Amino acid sequence: MAQFTVSDQITKLEHHLRELESEYNREPHSVKLLAVSKTRQVSEVKAAIAAGQAAFGENYAQELADKSLEIGQVGVDWHFIGALQSNKAKLIAQHADWIHTIDRSKIANRLQRHLAGTDKNLEVCIQLNLDEEITKAGVSLDELPALAEHIGELDNLTLRGLMSIPKPASEEATQRRNFAKVRHALEQLNQSGFALDTLSMGMSGDYAAAVAEGATIVRVGTAIFGKRN
Ligand SMILES: *Cc1c(COP(=O)(O)O)cnc(C)c1O
Repeated sequence: MAQFTVSDQITKLEHHLRELESEYNREPHSVKLLAVSKTRQVSEVKAAIAAGQAAFGENYAQELADKSLEIGQVGVDWHFIGALQSNKAKLIAQHADWIHTIDRSKIANRLQRHLAGTDKNLEVCIQLNLDEEITKAGVSLDELPALAEHIGELDNLTLRGLMSIPKPASEEATQRRNFAKVRHALEQLNQSGFALDTLSMGMSGDYAAAVAEGATIVRVGTAIFGKRN
């Protein structure tokens, strides 16, 4: 069997993303690959960086902080994509460039408090919870406008868009229907005066459907690094 390397997988994925952009009439390079490196060794992250990968997603605040300290923040963007506990807000504020999982104003306020008076800016997505999801994280469509307004008022947070983790579905039509709901939610916010440009959706098993429905960031772990233990 051919040897599986992180570098080869990244090259393949980048190629596939360019093909999907073309297939679905998306702008070239409008879809960014976020390498989800949770549980992965620093050496694996470094192999990905050597292959040109510059954005990494982590689910645990302490792991993100440790890796960003060891690997650095110059030329590498660290995205927090896990469930955020209030007592971890400081770590995230210090070490993350992006956070995809804001779902309540209390967390946004905490992040802002840690960043106030600094020149650091955090790019944020609100996590949207569609119906029937496995996780309880995320706001409902009803709660979304108020949270977006609130984040818009915080000086050191920049609202960029929405993130979602729809229930895994094997049918591409079902995957697309769920991702389309997220895109519609973003379009509605933009119609009401926001200028949001980010849809963080799609993982190893469903990123093609996400690109078809407008994803600008796909969060891919297994297809880059192999199965997690
Ligand atoms: C782990 C994880 C991913 C990556 O999942 P894969 O199936 O390994 O690609 C993406 N998004 C979130 C929020 C995750 O927790």
